[in-house]
Amino acid sequence: MENQLKRYQMYIGGQWVDSASGETFTSFNPATGEPWCTVPKGTAEDVDRAVRAAGKAFEDSAWAKMTYTQRGKLLRRLGDLIAERAEELAVYETLDNGKLLREMRGQLKYLPEYYHYFAGLADKIHGETLPIDKPDLFVFSTREPLGVVAAITPWNSPLYLTTLKLAPALAAGNTIVIKPSEVTSASLLELMRLVEEAGFPPGVVNVVTGFGDPVGSALTSHPWVNRIAFTGGPESARHVVRGSAENFARVSLELGGKSPNIVFEDADPYNAAMGIVAGIFGAAGQSCVAGSRAFIHADVYDKVMELLVGRASGIKIGDPLASETEMGPLAIPGQLQRVEEYVQAGLDEGARLVFGGRRPEGLGKGWYYTPTIFEDASNQMKIAQEEIFGPVLTVIPFRSEEEVVKLANESKYGLAAGIWTSHVGKAHRVAKAIRAGIVWINTYRSISPIAPIGGVKFSGYGREGGWEAIYEYTQSKVVWVNTSTEPMPDPFIMR
Ligand code: NAD
Repeated sequence: MENQLKRYQMYIGGQWVDSASGETFTSFNPATGEPWCTVPKGTAEDVDRAVRAAGKAFEDSAWAKMTYTQRGKLLRRLGDLIAERAEELAVYETLDNGKLLREMRGQLKYLPEYYHYFAGLADKIHGETLPIDKPDLFVFSTREPLGVVAAITPWNSPLYLTTLKLAPALAAGNTIVIKPSEVTSASLLELMRLVEEAGFPPGVVNVVTGFGDPVGSALTSHPWVNRIAFTGGPESARHVVRGSAENFARVSLELGGKSPNIVFEDADPYNAAMGIVAGIFGAAGQSCVAGSRAFIHADVYDKVMELLVGRASGIKIGDPLASETEMGPLAIPGQLQRVEEYVQAGLDEGARLVFGGRRPEGLGKGWYYTPTIFEDASNQMKIAQEEIFGPVLTVIPFRSEEEVVKLANESKYGLAAGIWTSHVGKAHRVAKAIRAGIVWINTYRSISPIAPIGGVKFSGYGREGGWEAIYEYTQSKVVWVNTSTEPMPDPFIMR
């Protein structure tokens, strides 16, 4: 069986290599439960080799000598190559994580925009002249790259979440070692062929595949790593932050959420209901920004629920490669089990199941789950407080703006929020009052390279995307020039 599977290698220092141990692991197709490829099981030794290759490329290589404009051109070329291969890359993502081909295709076709955006920024990274408050001193700052970046990603949107790190890190002149999720290594390894074809010098971009322990932990605690960009869950994030302490590497964390989707009485009920569907059943709820708590004003509760349940109950579940499918399987069996446990917890705590709450029939061995909606729930229940990362929605009615802001903020998370209203003042008031990194008004799950994403509280820190990302991958250096012709003043006082 092993022999029939596609066999991948890692990409270290411009070479395609097996793991130092020679071991591999298998990746499964969530739609069938069948294995489809093997991937090298990286070790701490592989990590060390990759980080050293990245360190060397940063210090002393064609990359180190390149102008920002030349680096921008390489990034643009990579974006163009991704555009040419978007369809194929999307299929690899779907085979690995079970998300709809049409969603992955959409993401992959849009991905070049990120490379083009950051390619454009590459030669606009500059410092400032500082109007210093002392005579005879000319002072300016430059913005410099940080060095070796370690990027660690989860399985839900492998190339999109990699790109949020890779594109700005390279635009700023860093080098990078990427560890994809052990669930979804294939599309990143395919991307490395394009990195090679685009002409990035060896060692600038490296991939070590494998598990959190040992690959993730060896990477985040490696003494040559200067910056860690992590997307994933809070447990792994704690390990990452501890690992970073070894080298005081700068860290950004993009963690999960329990995002509120708020429908006011003056909202368009159809749009709001579809916004809730998009927020929680898009990607089968395996989205960091999933709108997993819906707060609906009591005056429109019945109407919005009717539309919501009507649409959710009509969702076509099945083969993620088929064009008519609207919800595919969950990515791993453990995720399916986690969803089942949370649904049971909801029932045990007294919430009422309005729809779903089971595995659908007739879909073979795939890891499918029905769209699930709970009502009669309190905001304190587990299903309203903990991230499920699956297609499970908890609906809670409210009566006033003040009440719903309090409910929305009663969460350890703070990644995203949706507001549905036709009242412009209310939209702005509530957007300001919600503690989250992203607020969508009368829309949900919109993304752009120009808009930063990231959370507050338990959802992490640091931002990805937008101009801010350049600051995340650079640091300033301040240069003081004495222009005076006078002898040095008293050496024992600060100047
Ligand atoms: P995870 O935390 O289990 O794994 C994420 C990555 O961390 C994987 O590559 C994993 O191998 C690695 N890892 C595990 N242990 C590690 C360690 N000790 N040191 C270093 N790396 C380690 O998360 P997941 O299950 O793959 O993804 C789901 C989670 O990711 C959810 O909580 C979700 O909300 C979050 N997520 C957040 C965003 C965002 O942008 N905020 C986006 C997507 C997913």
